[in-house]
Amino acid sequence: MVVVHQPPTPAQYDMHNELMKETRKFIKAYDSIVLHQEPYRSLFLLTLNYLRENLVRLIQKFGTLSKDGSKVKSVECCGVFYDTYDDLKEHYEQSHYRKALQSASLCELKMSLTKISLFERTIRGYLKGGEVSSCEMIMNLKRILRKVDTTLGF
Ligand SMILES: [Zn+2]
Repeated sequence: MVVVHQPPTPAQYDMHNELMKETRKFIKAYDSIVLHQEPYRSLFLLTLNYLRENLVRLIQKFGTLSKDGSKVKSVECCGVFYDTYDDLKEHYEQSHYRKALQSASLCELKMSLTKISLFERTIRGYLKGGEVSSCEMIMNLKRILRKVDTTLGF
């Protein structure tokens, strides 16, 4: 069987450019995003873990990554370790929600979580439909991975 490789369509180049734009934006905003991780640090770290998973997948789809780059780190809250976002979120809603409503810095935390989630959605979209790769793209994705790993304490 002969596999015919179609050249990328203009729409796929647009998608690549969009990813590049969002990647640069995220790198610039990262330090201020991380600044607002208190007082719900574990929820923040888990959201970041979720982004990390998809970031690793995307780098592996178009480039290479060393073995220890793909490990997952669980997040501790109230003495329990959580591996999935849904489990920790459930714990948060049951144990911390009321307290969270009274927190003055909740608004900033929510904005930070939203920024991470939006970027994570871009990454997931590219995992699904992205076809175009570039050195700068891989470089920027790895840059973000390094930043995330520093925050997560790898
Ligand atoms: Zn807790």
